[in-house]
Amino acid sequence: MEATVMTTDDRKVARSLALSHDWHQRMVADFPELFAPGFGFECLGGWRFLLREMCKRIMLLAPEDREWTMFSQVKEKFGTLRAYHAGGPRVDEIVDWAEEASERTCDVCGRPGSLRNSGGWYATRCDDHDGWTG
Ligand SMILES: [Zn+2]
Repeated sequence: MEATVMTTDDRKVARSLALSHDWHQRMVADFPELFAPGFGFECLGGWRFLLREMCKRIMLLAPEDREWTMFSQVKEKFGTLRAYHAGGPRVDEIVDWAEEASERTCDVCGRPGSLRNSGGWYATRCDDHDGWTG
């Protein structure tokens, strides 16, 4: 297997994808039932694919299973995703899936990663982004 080496350009792209907030507005616009206008995600952009998949799965539930879901907070805590909502058990199952998947997804770039401790600070990262601070 060929090792992936990040070029300077790759790093710049990764930085802008991780720190950009453009995806926040798109998520809120695409899932108005799940996020109030102006909602802010308290995590890096590498998880936006994961969050989008979570929202798609919730919207596939029957309306009675997803009512009141509206997320109050979506954040990174101790290196993994936490998503707080007022929905029922079917929504809980999907959010649990997303939170577990975050333990294997680099929060900078979205590629496979693992939970790491760098200097007492937890983050789920791929090898390229281990210790990444932006
Ligand atoms: Zn990464």
